[in-house]
Amino acid sequence: MEDSNQLSLQIKENVEVIQEKIFNAAKRSGRDAGDVKLLTVSKKKSVEMMRAAVEAGITLFGENYPEETVGKMDILNEEYPDLAWHMIGHLQSRKARLVAEGFDMMHSLDSVRLANKLGRALDAAERQLPVLLEMNVSGEDSKGGWAAWNEKQWDLLVPEIEQILTVETLVVKGLMAMPPLSADAENTRPYFVQLRQLRNWLGKKFPQIEWEELSMGTSLDFEVAVEEGATFVRIGTAILGARAY
Ligand SMILES: *Cc1c(COP(=O)(O)O)cnc(C)c1O
Repeated sequence: MEDSNQLSLQIKENVEVIQEKIFNAAKRSGRDAGDVKLLTVSKKKSVEMMRAAVEAGITLFGENYPEETVGKMDILNEEYPDLAWHMIGHLQSRKARLVAEGFDMMHSLDSVRLANKLGRALDAAERQLPVLLEMNVSGEDSKGGWAAWNEKQWDLLVPEIEQILTVETLVVKGLMAMPPLSADAENTRPYFVQLRQLRNWLGKKFPQIEWEELSMGTSLDFEVAVEEGATFVRIGTAILGARAY
């Protein structure tokens, strides 16, 4: 009991520090900090740790591995009715049903095939799912998402997105990227700029979509991401501590 209170206080303090940094970064770029949502990334973290996080006031969680998440949802949704769960990791299409049934948003939609699978699972579950399209803005092979680091690639996105927009249970809200991590966040800035510019370009191609969300920035670089327009920052380590693998 003593320990979990202690943990909760520590988490609360971490969140306050981050919120202040978000506030200042937003101010530097003339943005409203209220437009930036803090997603606490809880992959590989235990139910006990997540309980401490909820006691610290956190309700919005980002997860990468659907089977792991479903186990945690089963327990925590019973105890706390107001939690929201966002999928941020690569999803194998055979696991689409898990996301369609239990998650509140998907940041990492990365193929038409997956969109169709999700669409069918959502039809069966009679649900809609807000989604972000994951873009590879760095050109690294290991990164997920549509190839979009070179503006010459952007036209190729149009037919893909047209197909996704035919899936009526998916609600496209914007873009997500996970650029390579660097100890110096300034190295990542050009990738955040690229994602924002792509969003603006898509806004002209698909004016029927609002494209209001940009999910970018982690523990290492969220301040720069906010300066460049992030509306979701995805932060694990700086809130819940290092992950044990
Ligand atoms: C793990 C993860 C994060 C959080 O990374 P931290 O360095 O722990 O803040 C953010 N986004 C994605 C896609 C992740 O997989």
